[in-house]
Amino acid sequence: MKEGVLFKNYTTMRCGGEARYWDEPTCEEDIIRDLLFASERGLGVFVLGGGANCLISDKGYDGLVIKMGKEMSGLETEDLGDRVIVRAGAGLLLRSFATTVSEMGLEGAEFACGIPGTLGGAVFMNAGAYGGEMKDIVISARYIDSDGNANEISSDDLRLGYRTSIFEQMSRAGKVFVITSVTCELRKGDIDSIKAKISELNEKRTASQPLDVPSSGSTFKRPEGYFAGKLIDDCGLRGYSIASSAAQVSPKHCGFIVNNGGNASASEVFDLICDVSDKVYEKFGVRLETEVRLVGEFSRRIDITSFGFKYGVPEDCDLVLDARSLKNPYWVEELRPLSGLDEPIRQYLAGFEETERLIAGFVDSVENAISQKNKAVFSVAVGCTGGHHRSVYCASRLEEELRKLGYKTDLKHRDILKDSADDRG
Ligand SMILES: Cc1cc2nc3c(=O)[nH]c(=O)nc-3n(C[C@H](O)[C@H](O)[C@H](O)COP(=O)(O)OP(=O)(O)OC[C@H]3O[C@@H](n4cnc5c(N)ncnc54)[C@H](O)[C@@H]3O)c2cc1C
Repeated sequence: MKEGVLFKNYTTMRCGGEARYWDEPTCEEDIIRDLLFASERGLGVFVLGGGANCLISDKGYDGLVIKMGKEMSGLETEDLGDRVIVRAGAGLLLRSFATTVSEMGLEGAEFACGIPGTLGGAVFMNAGAYGGEMKDIVISARYIDSDGNANEISSDDLRLGYRTSIFEQMSRAGKVFVITSVTCELRKGDIDSIKAKISELNEKRTASQPLDVPSSGSTFKRPEGYFAGKLIDDCGLRGYSIASSAAQVSPKHCGFIVNNGGNASASEVFDLICDVSDKVYEKFGVRLETEVRLVGEFSRRIDITSFGFKYGVPEDCDLVLDARSLKNPYWVEELRPLSGLDEPIRQYLAGFEETERLIAGFVDSVENAISQKNKAVFSVAVGCTGGHHRSVYCASRLEEELRKLGYKTDLKHRDILKDSADDRG
């Protein structure tokens, strides 16, 4: 067990602070011992593979990092005639796995030849490229749960989808599983055609991606119906950076944010992610979701919008909060023409105990939802009937509370001017 290991040296983005504790297990027993060490001390656990898809905070990670690497990277095969079962350690580099099996004349893993990171990380993310993905070849994975029990899970239960798996989904609920080995099934094929396909894919990748500059690959997920890189390019952001930061939208591939010379901090990369995401949202109304895993503390921004349900829930928001259970100032005649920004309404609503309870519940719901979404910018909508009184007050109060907790916020009142003064509610 080591202490104070710098993530910067273990991530392809070349940034990130220190891990409080760090272990590189050589076997499953080591992992079980690590998990016990963390649970006895009440520490969080983060599993790191090749660090090819992680942006780790400059403040590092105040827990235990289990770094899966070459010590758990053995590979064995079982010949089934026209197919071969290949079982490999989760710490094996995906590229080494793909190269090894292709040299054995096995086809199906060619897509993986250019994808950085480990086999475990590739299953967690269901890594894929050029029409292939881990889902096509994985038949099972072995893992250890946080209680230290080892289990095997079959492909049907792995829930492999676009950049997700059961492990990725469970991690959003705060659950830790350590994948220790992965079993794939590959067909026997013609070694020359396999090699030709690999060269073709490698050429494509080298021609289109900035492989000589630190990055985490595609920064954003592909939004439905669009390509993130094209949206970014169409915003005129090719080569864009904030001030003179080394974090830059790659001039070669707009879907990649690169860290020139490894000189940018994680927060500079994060600020650029937020900025690019905002610019795309302003121009196209599409909120980009980060594919890169955000690990540790980042000052995420929360966009809060008050609205009236009678005008419809704002599209694309991550969380909708309902303030309609509060007493409605609409029914107090002299308050009716005012809005939730006016002092008399603030005083009226603040006078009820249930208002404080609702705001506290809203804060909890936001924090809970943020921890389950891998988003740099998170959007919350707070609604009441007409969007003038309760939603405006609650959205403003929610903003105050979230600011106190250290979040960056942005507040808008969408429907505050919509109704005539008479029928505000
Ligand atoms: C230049 C470049 C090109 C890329 N091209 C592609 C591409 O074409 N297609 C693609 O899909 N991706 C691509 N990526 C992203 C990256 O290579 C993949 O997401 C890869 O699968 C990440 O693996 P990793 O081991 O580095 O995971 P890490 O970055 O270390 O971790 C990613 C997540 O997986 C979890 N994890 C890792 N290992 C384990 C384990 N053993 N048990 C449990 N959880 C684990 C981590 O906790 C983390 O949440 C690219 C990245 C770069 C830098």
